[in-house]
Amino acid sequence: METEFMRITVSVIKADVGGVGGHTKPSDGLINAIRDTVKNSADLLIDHYIGYCGDDTHIVMTHTHGVDDQSIHKLAWDAFIAGTKVAKEEGLYGAGQDLLKDSFSGNVKGMGPGVAELEFEERPNEAFTVFAADKTEPGAFNYPIYRMFVDALSNTGLIVNQSLAAGVRINIMDVEKAKIAELSLWEDKPTIEAALMYPGRYVVDSVYTKDGEPILDASTDRLHNIAGTYVGKDDPICLVRTQKDFPATEEVGSAFNNPHYVAGNTRGSHNMPLMPVKLNSAATINFCIPIVEALVFSMHNGLLTGPFDGFSTPDWDYIRENATKKAMAMRSQGFIHPATLVPSELEYAQGYKARMDILESKMKTMEGTVAGKKRENYEDPD
Ligand code: 13P
Ligand code: MG
Ligand code: MG
Repeated sequence: METEFMRITVSVIKADVGGVGGHTKPSDGLINAIRDTVKNSADLLIDHYIGYCGDDTHIVMTHTHGVDDQSIHKLAWDAFIAGTKVAKEEGLYGAGQDLLKDSFSGNVKGMGPGVAELEFEERPNEAFTVFAADKTEPGAFNYPIYRMFVDALSNTGLIVNQSLAAGVRINIMDVEKAKIAELSLWEDKPTIEAALMYPGRYVVDSVYTKDGEPILDASTDRLHNIAGTYVGKDDPICLVRTQKDFPATEEVGSAFNNPHYVAGNTRGSHNMPLMPVKLNSAATINFCIPIVEALVFSMHNGLLTGPFDGFSTPDWDYIRENATKKAMAMRSQGFIHPATLVPSELEYAQGYKARMDILESKMKTMEGTVAGKKRENYEDPD
């Protein structure tokens, strides 16, 4: 029987378990293996959708089991294991890349896959958008989330919508210490800004209205912290409810219309702009410009309609052109920082360290070197 307000959980779980000829996109065989596994357990779910962004496959699931549910997380884990098996058979690159543990233990969080989940009382015309990104890190969403909830110059809804004008609660994670700060607008505005300033360290985890209604959840794991060594960028996803008391769909979409520089790109070691792309896009082999997709859904009684491809309309071609221009401008200065990341953020840290060890071994004190002699003979002008 149809009830007016049903409690629904939307779980989006994603992982990179292999790419065709490099970190490009999953193969049809890989996607089919994931699809078949989810279909076989479809009785757990009300509805689902499977797609990919670059080499990361996302599974969008609706159900009534709540967040962090073991059976739902295991279903996603099993699907990614099945995808990995095919990836290995096909010799795909990075087969099983994001599956960092040998066996499932209750929850995929901390095991490699990224998770964004919200449980809520479904509105009669529930609307939400999933943003899926590749070749970047969770902090890539700091800037667009700021534009959605803090910056009235980007979002007039912050002035004219009563709920948004009251300010929201923003939970920010310190991804190095795995701690969360609960901050509140507008009183914590400068503190929120200070945190969002360094997306490699502080990342938006979730956003709620002042009366506790969930609006946004983002994946916040940093894979290289889990694995202890680089295994690929922790390409993020983010789930945002829209309309009514929340930002309009076009207010969350337009937050991506100024492709800002994010960490990621080739070897996870460069700053490059985040380019909005169409659904199920491969990562470009023009370097691999960070990309983001918008999956725009309607939902009723947990049944999904969509996704509408949020970045498919003609105006986004212009934004893509801007992103490409910004990307080429940044790479025109080659490896010189800030085209490359600072040493602590470099994903190929070992290779860099090997170079620096040689440099260090050649370092001498100033005495006895030509440069030092020159210095000794140098007289200060009067
Ligand atoms: P992914 O994190 O998407 O696997 O990409 C890794 C990489 O190093 C690309 O150059
Ligand atoms: Mg990969
Ligand atoms: Mg990826």
